[in-house]
Amino acid sequence: MNPHLSNNDMPPIDQPVVWEPADAEEALALKREHGANAVWVAGGTLLRTQWEGGIAAIPAHMIRLDTIEGMRSIIDETDYVQVGSLATLKQCGQHAALQQYANALYMACRHIAAPAVRNLATIGGNVASAVGDALPALLVHDASLLWIDGEHTPLHHEQAAVDWMEQVRIGRRSLHAVLLGIRFPKGPVISGHLPVQSSVAVESTPVDLSANAVSFWIDEHGERWRELCFFRKLGRREAFTPSLVTVAMRCWISESGELTRVRVAAGGGSGLAMRLLQCELMLEGRMYDATWLPELARVAAQEFSSYSDPFAEAPYRQQSAGNLLAAGLWESIRDMEEGR
Ligand SMILES: Cc1cc2nc3c(=O)[nH]c(=O)nc-3n(C[C@H](O)[C@H](O)[C@H](O)COP(=O)(O)OP(=O)(O)OC[C@H]3O[C@@H](n4cnc5c(N)ncnc54)[C@H](O)[C@@H]3O)c2cc1C
Repeated sequence: MNPHLSNNDMPPIDQPVVWEPADAEEALALKREHGANAVWVAGGTLLRTQWEGGIAAIPAHMIRLDTIEGMRSIIDETDYVQVGSLATLKQCGQHAALQQYANALYMACRHIAAPAVRNLATIGGNVASAVGDALPALLVHDASLLWIDGEHTPLHHEQAAVDWMEQVRIGRRSLHAVLLGIRFPKGPVISGHLPVQSSVAVESTPVDLSANAVSFWIDEHGERWRELCFFRKLGRREAFTPSLVTVAMRCWISESGELTRVRVAAGGGSGLAMRLLQCELMLEGRMYDATWLPELARVAAQEFSSYSDPFAEAPYRQQSAGNLLAAGLWESIRDMEEGR
């Protein structure tokens, strides 16, 4: 434990004490000791804007997480890709395994903030803030979160991102949990409506730098299914701007145009990301046809619960989410048809 005091031995009033834990257990102990007077700091990019904007008070104790070893790497395992919570957005937006197996996250990380911010900002801070633009991507990839949590037995546990979002929504997230990493399962997602058995072979394709779809599998009838995955963000400017709305979608499409294992999510701004289950139900097992895209936009707009602020009214965000989804699906399929 290595506290950095701002001046000699005693901190002047209003100057926070900065702690440098060597491991996550020590970070938990510091939080337990200082409670609501302490915050975890990863890249500090979001916290700084909150402090500078007067949205949050500068805390008496800052607990650095970037002094903890072993939370920066992105590991490509057989069944999943694991991203350490201290991996920067830049790292995530450049990693080949994420491009292939968690393409919506890869794309999200390339569209959050500006390059200078992405050098510092971590994926853990984006997720743990509960309002980061990466969250819809986590939801469509069925990602799970790896926690060390002082309020949980056992201390270390893995939790589906969708379940954690629900805890946040109902105000029951643990305030004594450090996010250690995020796991993205590879291959087809588990669904109640599988047209194939779990023994189906998954084939990897060479990574295509431009295309959204990144892998195929062949079902027991020999039909080839291709992954379709996209992320879209709407901001107040073209680039380097906080989002008004973000959407992500992932599914598999057969050569005959049937969609399956559909995941749809929306979020953005300071709203909470959510899965759009009615959209998923509408698309599951359906043959793609551009004529029903306006219906998809309508269902998504109805289902997405958003909020109003001085920048945009809730109905605008809802309608935008629907339009982004319909347009994203249309563009992705057009790109596939054109071999991009
Ligand atoms: C100019 C600018 C533009 C931005 N644009 C965007 C944007 O387009 N989209 C977007 O989503 N964000 C944007 N941000 C916000 C921010 O940069 C990102 O959300 C970033 O990923 C946050 O990561 P961080 O490491 O800096 O988090 P921090 O600021 O260090 O922390 C954020 C929150 O998460 C908590 N936290 C951090 N790490 C952990 C952990 N491992 N376990 C538990 N809690 C943790 C902190 O206590 C804090 O509450 C922008 C910021 C700036 C300054």
